[in-house]
Amino acid sequence: MKPAKDPTPLMKQFLDIKNRHPDALLFFRVGDFYEMFYEDAKTASKILDIALTTRDKNKEEAVPLCGVPYHAASTYIARLIRAGRKVAVCEQMEDARKVRLQPGGGIVKREVVRVITPGTVVDPDLLDAREPLYIAAVAVQKSGPLDSILSGTIGMAYLSLSTGEFRTTEIQGAGRQSLADELATIQPRELLVPPALNSPHLFPGMENQPGTIQVRPDWHFEPDLSHQILCKHFGVPSLNGYGCAGKPAAIAAAGALLRYVMENQKGSVTHITALSWHSTEDHMVLDPVTRTNLELTQQVGRGTGRQNGPDNPQTLLGLLDHSQTPMGSRMLRDWVLKPLRKIEEIQKRLEAVNVLFEDYRTRSELRSSLSAVHDLERLISRIGLGTANARDLNRLKNSLKDLPEISRVISHLTAPLIRDTLKTWDDLQDIYQIIDDTLAPDPPLQLHQGGLIKPGANPELETLRTGARDGKDRMAGLESQERKRTGINSLKIRYNQVFGYYIEITRSKLRHLPSDYTRKQTLVNAERFITPELKALEQKVLGAEGQLVELEYKIFENTRSRVAGHTARIQEMARKLASLDVLSTLAEVAHLHHYVRPQVHAGLAIRITDGRHPVLERLNLSEGFVPNDTLMDHESHRLLMITGPNMAGKSTYMRQVALIVLMAQMGSFVPAREASIGLTDRIFTRVGAADDLTGGRSTFMVEMQEAANILHHATPNSLILLDEIGRGTSTFDGISIAWAVAEYIHTRIGARTLFATHYHELTDLAIHHTGIQNLRAEVRERNDEIIFLRKVVVGKADQSYGV
Ligand code: ADP
Ligand code: MG
Repeated sequence: MKPAKDPTPLMKQFLDIKNRHPDALLFFRVGDFYEMFYEDAKTASKILDIALTTRDKNKEEAVPLCGVPYHAASTYIARLIRAGRKVAVCEQMEDARKVRLQPGGGIVKREVVRVITPGTVVDPDLLDAREPLYIAAVAVQKSGPLDSILSGTIGMAYLSLSTGEFRTTEIQGAGRQSLADELATIQPRELLVPPALNSPHLFPGMENQPGTIQVRPDWHFEPDLSHQILCKHFGVPSLNGYGCAGKPAAIAAAGALLRYVMENQKGSVTHITALSWHSTEDHMVLDPVTRTNLELTQQVGRGTGRQNGPDNPQTLLGLLDHSQTPMGSRMLRDWVLKPLRKIEEIQKRLEAVNVLFEDYRTRSELRSSLSAVHDLERLISRIGLGTANARDLNRLKNSLKDLPEISRVISHLTAPLIRDTLKTWDDLQDIYQIIDDTLAPDPPLQLHQGGLIKPGANPELETLRTGARDGKDRMAGLESQERKRTGINSLKIRYNQVFGYYIEITRSKLRHLPSDYTRKQTLVNAERFITPELKALEQKVLGAEGQLVELEYKIFENTRSRVAGHTARIQEMARKLASLDVLSTLAEVAHLHHYVRPQVHAGLAIRITDGRHPVLERLNLSEGFVPNDTLMDHESHRLLMITGPNMAGKSTYMRQVALIVLMAQMGSFVPAREASIGLTDRIFTRVGAADDLTGGRSTFMVEMQEAANILHHATPNSLILLDEIGRGTSTFDGISIAWAVAEYIHTRIGARTLFATHYHELTDLAIHHTGIQNLRAEVRERNDEIIFLRKVVVGKADQSYGV
């Protein structure tokens, strides 16, 4: 940046602030615009495709400049963030009118109020209501070469700044794959790493997005210092209450993360009220390949576009998401991506879904009350961050209105999860009252124009309001007085931001004027004047209005911070409402699509009668969906080898089993007539011949890496789906690989496995091993035509179909 030799006071102020934020684009508020200067202007104008101009054109060193109107700023910020930039928002910290009234003028005080980065977006215009947005940090304990570092304990923390959800965990010496798997369930938009991990290929999926990986200095990850920062923020002597005792790597990551957001938010992150320990043992890990293959939140072969969002009914989430609130949507997503592993917890959810399933009236009353609830989590966050306006506070108020009603509606339900919810239920009506007593019912979006506070809420405000009205009346009086004095009936007193109040006279009416008229400005067909009397009255009117607006804002701010003082209570209730929303949604979907309650048990057997694929059965198949049975166990049905011609239904069958298991463990009813599910610790799926050309690996390499990953991580409690693996190479090699993988899994790992293959030779495995059963997707032949029956039956396929 090349500042002019003799910068104006405004540019001096700009340079001063810019120097403190060298890596962010500085949005410098000037009146109704955010302006950018120098390099920032060049960069931003290019990304935003807006005009680049110059300031002080006639000076020797003109300053490059571009600007965006403040009311449209969020869309521009969104585009800059998407391009991987940070944006520092610099506001005017005092009323420009006040500064103008001061003797000598001067310039308004300005300050950066927050720095927005890809992972710390909180503006509702920039967020998807149904998806969480996380920023994460990774800390390591060892030093040395990368693989040795990653073989030690890895700490990982993640935060959703827009809701205050803050979690931390440790991954034990598991290497890069486990780290990648954990990160994949969170999909952070921004990741903080120490210099040793500054290696983009460590973080698949993030390497190509600019600005997502932020290297922070080593000392930010220092466990003791992190411990101090966290304790100070939460006001606690130690982190033991958060389950973090003796977890230095987790604490290091959490501390570095909190430091970063505190820096960016200029300290105000009071809505981060707790840190929770997240054990990776509590839920199934679903690696990215499995999530994709099962189409949990995204359809295979689709990018990340809008139509692939939570609305897409061709994904499990899209199918299930009949939530009434954004919080419910986000929680449902979390349940889908993190199915449980503890039987008691699964049973608790299933029991709650069950009572809501059976009680239609309660369910519909509950859901209709929930539909009036706004995004409490994000509202209270913005209130804590000081970015909430008066309408946001009213939205919060309206969301709290029905809380007593909701608890009444569910008061008779006996499910333990719902009883727990009711035991610590908090109506929050005191918070409703705080807002209702103060704020006008329909306030403007702007906070510095008045109109925020209810009439009668504050006596001092009433006096000022009367004063301001009086001043306006006197201004009207002055106008008619001047009309009489000059004899010009069309004379008008007007106001603008630059001159304040002035008298305007049409040129054609202009005649001899009193001597106290001073000319201020000449327009094409009018002249503008001021008089000492007008200026004196102006001081009074503007003073009263300024005071009024200021006091209204002060009362508003005070109300906002009183509400913010109850953040933890509101967050707690937001979680309860979200969970009621998800439970009733699962009950509703079970009812809509005819699901049954699964039995979940600690054994290994999976028994499904008339199972269906939840997503495919909803598509209008002309033939109708054909249900199928499944039996798997550790003894005689450990590996099911499925053959049958192309398009016979092999892949569908395998996925339906995996989805039913997953749904059962997330606490949902399942698409079947009956289902009994032996608890599963992980689900792995691999599909052969899926080229990952963009990743630069050959099909064969991908298959081998993915298979190796399963072999390393699967246990006898896992469920493995292998769909046509070994296709990425020659037939002979393919058969050998498929054979070896199947045999290894069956004999060494002992995981329950569904194996679909077009290699007929593999059916011989059943001869060599007990516990391997051959199944086939049944077809009939009629006049040289193959008819798919969609029935999976015992036995191997007839080789003549070109299997
Ligand atoms: P394969 O893996 O054997 O080649 P798929 O499982 O991909 O076959 O199934 C091919 C198509 O057959 C599916 O897209 C679906 O339209 C239909 N299909 C599969 N299973 C069923 C079923 N149980 N009922 C009805 N249609 C089915
Ligand atoms: Mg297939």
